[in-house]
Amino acid sequence: MLAQPTASHFINGQYVEDTNGTPLPVIYPATGETVAQMYEATPEIIEQALSTAQAAQKEWAQRSGTERGRVLRRAADIIRERNRELSVLETYDTGKPLSETLYVDATSGADALEYFGGLAGSLTGEHIPLGQDWVYTIREALGLCVGIGAWNYPTQIACWKGAPALACGNSMVFKPSETTPLCALKVAEILHEAGLPAGVYNVIQGTGSVGAALVSDTRVDKVSLTGSVPTGKKIYASAAADMKHVTMELGGKSPLIIFDDADLENAVGGAILGNFYSSGQVCSNSTRVFVQEGLKDAFLKRLSERLATAQIGDPMDEATNFGPMVSQNQMAIVQRYIQIGQDEGANLVAGGKRMDREGFFLEPTVFADVTDDMTIAKEEIFGPVMSVLTFKDEDEAIARANETEFGLSAGVFTNDMTRAHRVIGRLEAGSCFINSYNDAPVEAPFGGVKASGVGRENSKEAIHHYSQVKSVYVRMGDVEAPF
Ligand code: NDP
Repeated sequence: MLAQPTASHFINGQYVEDTNGTPLPVIYPATGETVAQMYEATPEIIEQALSTAQAAQKEWAQRSGTERGRVLRRAADIIRERNRELSVLETYDTGKPLSETLYVDATSGADALEYFGGLAGSLTGEHIPLGQDWVYTIREALGLCVGIGAWNYPTQIACWKGAPALACGNSMVFKPSETTPLCALKVAEILHEAGLPAGVYNVIQGTGSVGAALVSDTRVDKVSLTGSVPTGKKIYASAAADMKHVTMELGGKSPLIIFDDADLENAVGGAILGNFYSSGQVCSNSTRVFVQEGLKDAFLKRLSERLATAQIGDPMDEATNFGPMVSQNQMAIVQRYIQIGQDEGANLVAGGKRMDREGFFLEPTVFADVTDDMTIAKEEIFGPVMSVLTFKDEDEAIARANETEFGLSAGVFTNDMTRAHRVIGRLEAGSCFINSYNDAPVEAPFGGVKASGVGRENSKEAIHHYSQVKSVYVRMGDVEAPF
């Protein structure tokens, strides 16, 4: 039985419905069935959420950090207790297999709440001595934050934005993707069950137009988006009108460089994790796999052997480890790219087809002999499509890896540790991996450079993006004025 949210929006500590909004059916990607009905936020709902969040923020910011942190840590405990129920909901929302959602979605949201809950009591300024005078700084909340989420990690994104925002004393209005509206509502419900004052964390549904209305509202102090580069550019421009703070977690076309001295099994494992986890719908994925020439044949052979063992099917069956695409629309986008890859002469060595079953299933797909100028090597596909390119030497691999507008992630597999650090030092990416791929612990900063983003989520870095510093000069002697 699906423990669904009971209405479309969560505002001022309770579920709120307004059926005047455009209906947003929630479709289970594994079957194409409608499993819930949401309604887009009307202007009245948007107003209710923003005014409530603005009013609730001051009192929340006045609480001690320890008190705020306690609420977040309680919420983390509740999420862990209900992990299975929340994971099932995440699977209905996204189609990702339960074998993933049980381990990386609600649990990673709980990690963020626990981590930032723990930090909340230690968010201090500093004392700067200047002879007999001094400066002290105060770390203050920004105020009202808007969070806007993508559809691939709905629970995680709601928590990765909410936890640091709330720890710093901000309030939040969060808009999930219209494709996956359910999970963020449960996050809001649990935060309030844990003792969050009404109005501090609110969730409203809607398409991009609701997001745009939130971003352009003058009461909003900060916008944090997880989404694509084109949407990021629009939101950044809109936020600039009132000089709002922004965090932009955007797309990528990340390189994974595999040298011929690498451990083959681990390198293949890294490439699989970086392309097929969550059916390839991960922003940091290593969709350009550069394999050194001498290793190419062995790499492709081992990759195809391991792909043949993928368990594709019912996401609710815990033996399944590869599920459907999130939506019919996303499946069509990826199918189009697979066609373009074939048309431009890439060598399709695995998959490439829609599967003959209900739901939005695509086969895990591998193209070999991909060249840098091909569309599939340049554009973010956001699906289970790996491009394998070959290279001769280190300098060539680095130059080609950096030849992109994106800069989210990068990885290197080699047993030469000096080379590993040297290469990583020259790659233009925010989140990097050595002999691993796609680990995202809350303790580590996460985010991109170049077109892939602005700011960082997770870690102590996130605190800088949800707070600002006031500095206070204190004079102990007389003021010397020129006249
Ligand atoms: P989109 O950019 O299409 O949408 C992201 C969110 O922004 C959605 O909630 C969307 O609403 C909303 N939105 C769309 N237009 C506007 C607007 N003009 N103003 C305000 N809000 C708007 O991304 P997807 O949802 O398709 O997600 C996939 C993208 O997200 C990929 O590019 C991926 O790389 C990126 N991503 C980045 C991550 C990171 O941390 N760097 C992590 C995960 C994904 P709606 O869709 O409901 O209409």
